[in-house]
Amino acid sequence: MSAKTFLMCGDAEMKKYAMPVIMLAVFETVAITLWLTKGNVFYLFNFSYIGISVSLGIFLFIKKYKHARRIVQLLVGLYMLVYLGLICNENMQIEGFWYYLFTGVFEAATIHYAVAKIFGPLIFGRGWCGYACWTAMVLDFLPYKVPEQPRKRLGWIRYITFAAALIFIAALFLAHVGNIERIMFWAFIIGNVLYYAAGILLAFIFRDNRAFCKYVCPITVFLKPMSYYSLFRVKCDKEKCISCGKCKLVCPMNVDVTDNSRKRENGTECILCMECVKNCPKGAL
Ligand code: SF4
Ligand code: SF4
Ligand code: SF4
Repeated sequence: MSAKTFLMCGDAEMKKYAMPVIMLAVFETVAITLWLTKGNVFYLFNFSYIGISVSLGIFLFIKKYKHARRIVQLLVGLYMLVYLGLICNENMQIEGFWYYLFTGVFEAATIHYAVAKIFGPLIFGRGWCGYACWTAMVLDFLPYKVPEQPRKRLGWIRYITFAAALIFIAALFLAHVGNIERIMFWAFIIGNVLYYAAGILLAFIFRDNRAFCKYVCPITVFLKPMSYYSLFRVKCDKEKCISCGKCKLVCPMNVDVTDNSRKRENGTECILCMECVKNCPKGAL
């Protein structure tokens, strides 16, 4: 191998690993900025931990490790559910977002929603749903990884759960209920139990692990419109595609990934799980 070829190979190898490094740099920028502006070292720890977990997942994906996504999901999902939710008593569900918004406190739950679910999706789409959500972390263990039935027209349910969460918090404030912090802690526990119960039940009824995500989850009211403009998307190289349909068959969210337009069928449902990319026989995605 000539010196020039050796350098070119080294260059290609470096480029391959640029993504996890960039991702870590983005999270570290958020971590340090929030740490210094809010004077709280928690933000440094929190966003560094998430950044390292996500970067590790991307690194493992590049290395073609088949459980890369699941590892990130468990690292981030368990951290948020157990450490932030149960140990630190931070309600990270949508009720917590409304609660901290109403109190005017820019706390972890508000920042979490701003980064992961409102503005973040403009860059990384619904990466949250594929790599971090603690509800899907459990649902993805169920047997229906690919939906076995056609999609139902039940997406309207999400607006009811979204409104119910908002009305619940508004009612607590309007009724001047005392000790709301304690109520929020129990709301977090009960809310999660209900989400898991509904998610598991729907998965078995519709033979689809992600039925809860498709029809019920209130957070999708934020996620779907924002991810429409996502910078990161899976795109199809039409020159290579042979229209075999395999990508749609393996997609847990029924996305027509061969259509490159923003209006692709179920385009705002893509959770960036990369199953389509892994299974495309022509490397067209
Ligand atoms: S749709 Fe909701 S439950 Fe499903 S992964 Fe996204 S945030 Fe989690
Ligand atoms: S799996 Fe690949 S080749 Fe087949 S339809 Fe999808 S993009 Fe085209
Ligand atoms: S299989 Fe592809 S199109 Fe479907 S959700 Fe995963 S990344 Fe998105």
